[in-house]
Amino acid sequence: MNPNAVYQKCIHADCGATCDVGDVHVACPVCGELLDVVYDWSKLPVPARLADFAARWAGRANPLDFSGVWRFRELLNFCDDRCRVTLGEGQTLLTPNAGVGRYVGLKDGGLFLQYEGLNPSGSFKDNGMTAAFSHARLVGARRVACASTGNTSASLALYAAHAGMQSIVFVGSGRIAFGKLAQALDYGARTLQIAGDFDACMRRVKEAAKRLGLYLMNSVNPFRLEGQKTIMLRVLEALAWQAPDWIVVPGGNLGNSSAFGKAFGELKELGLIDRVPRLAVINAAGADTLDRLVNQKKLRWNGGQYDKAALAEDWAWQDRTHRLPHTIASAIEIARPVNAAKCLRALSICDGVVRSVSDAEILDAKAQVGRCGLGCEPASAASVAGARRLVEEGVIDRDARVVCILTGHALKDPDATVGYHTGRFAPGKEVEGPRNFANLPVQVDDDIDAICRAVGE
Ligand SMILES: *Cc1c(COP(=O)(O)O)cnc(C)c1O
Ligand SMILES: [Zn+2]
Repeated sequence: MNPNAVYQKCIHADCGATCDVGDVHVACPVCGELLDVVYDWSKLPVPARLADFAARWAGRANPLDFSGVWRFRELLNFCDDRCRVTLGEGQTLLTPNAGVGRYVGLKDGGLFLQYEGLNPSGSFKDNGMTAAFSHARLVGARRVACASTGNTSASLALYAAHAGMQSIVFVGSGRIAFGKLAQALDYGARTLQIAGDFDACMRRVKEAAKRLGLYLMNSVNPFRLEGQKTIMLRVLEALAWQAPDWIVVPGGNLGNSSAFGKAFGELKELGLIDRVPRLAVINAAGADTLDRLVNQKKLRWNGGQYDKAALAEDWAWQDRTHRLPHTIASAIEIARPVNAAKCLRALSICDGVVRSVSDAEILDAKAQVGRCGLGCEPASAASVAGARRLVEEGVIDRDARVVCILTGHALKDPDATVGYHTGRFAPGKEVEGPRNFANLPVQVDDDIDAICRAVGE
C-alpha cells in the first residue's frame, strides 16, 4: 500500500505496482499496463453530500469555482490550487430533448443530451486537458504532445497556449476534420501530419515523447481521465443528484467511458450515490474493436485480471488482416483503443453494453440532433444512434431516463454535414445510405419571383 493520499497504480490486478503522483509515466513501469490515479479518501477532505458542490456556483468569481471541472476538485484532488490550469471549461448543459427522444423511441421526458460542445475548444476533451495540464504544471513540464484524430490536438494546443507551454501534435495525414486542424494551427501547435492513421500517430508520439522528454497528453495519461469524471458529476448535478438509468457515450480511445466508470465507482465507494447508471458504449461499425472484444470474444474486466493476451491477439489479427478503421465519425476512427482495459472495468461497474452503428445511422442521428436544436459532430451522434438501436432491441426500456453525451460541437466537421445534406461528400469520406433527413440547399436565380416561389408563397 502506498503511504501517500494520492498515487498512481497499475490497473492489472496481478501487478498493482504504485508510483508517486508526481511521476511521469505513460504506462506501468513494471508491466506496461495502464495506470490509474488512486485516492486514499480517508486522508483527504471529501464533502459529505454532493449537493455541497453546487453551492460553489455562488463563488464563481473564483475561476476554480467557475470551472465545471474544478468545482468538484475534492474528487480529483491530485494537486493544489497553484498548479490548477483552467479556462472555464465544463460550462456545459444537460437538457431534455423531446424531438431526439421521439427519434430514439423513448417516452416523453426520457431523453437528455449532455452537450459538451460548449467547452472552450468545442469538445469534451477540455475536461481532461485542464486536469492533465495541471499535472504537467505540477511536474514542471515545458513541452507537451499528443497524437490525435483532431479534438485532442485542438484542446491541447489551446491549453498549452494558455499555460505558456509548447505544444506538438501528431495527426494522421488527410484524416483530420478541418475545424480541428484549424484550431491546432491557430493556437500555435507544432503540427506534424504523419503519413498514417491515428494508431500510427499514437505509436510514434510515444516514441518521440520518450526520446525528447515530451509530456504526453493522450488519454493513456491517467490525469486526463480525472478531469473527464466531472462530466458525470455535472450530469448528476443537473438531475438533482439522481442517477439516470442509462448513460450512452461514443467510444473511440475509450477514455471517456473509462472515466465515467471510474467516477461512478468512486462515488459509490464514498457513499455519495446509491445507484450506478448503466453504460452503453457505441462504436462506429468501421472502428468496432470494443464491440468485437466484448460481444464476440467475451472479454471481461474479471476483477482486474483481464486477459491481456486477448487484446494483444486482436491487435496482431488486425495487423495480419491489414484491417484499418474507417468511419465518417473521425473522432472515433480508432482500431486499437488505448483505454480498452479501463473501459472493461467501466462496463463491469456500470453493467454496461457495447454496440456499433453504421455511418448512415450516425449521420441520420446527427441531422436529428441538429434539427432538434443542438447540433454536434458525427462521432457525438453515435450516442443517439446507439440509444435508438438499444431501444429497438429492448435493452433500453421505452420509459427509461437516458443521457446521451454529445461529445463535440457541430462546427468541428462542416464537411461531413454539408456532404450529408447535399450528397456530395469529400473524396475518401463518402457515406453510403439513405440520408433520411437531408436538407438540400436550393439553387435559385437572382430574381424576386423565383425567390418567392422557392421560399414558398
Ligand atoms: C475524442 C472524442 C470521442 C471519443 O472519446 P474517447 O474518450 O476517445 O472514447 C468521441 N467524440 C468526440 C467528439 C471526440 O473528440
Ligand atoms: Zn503493472
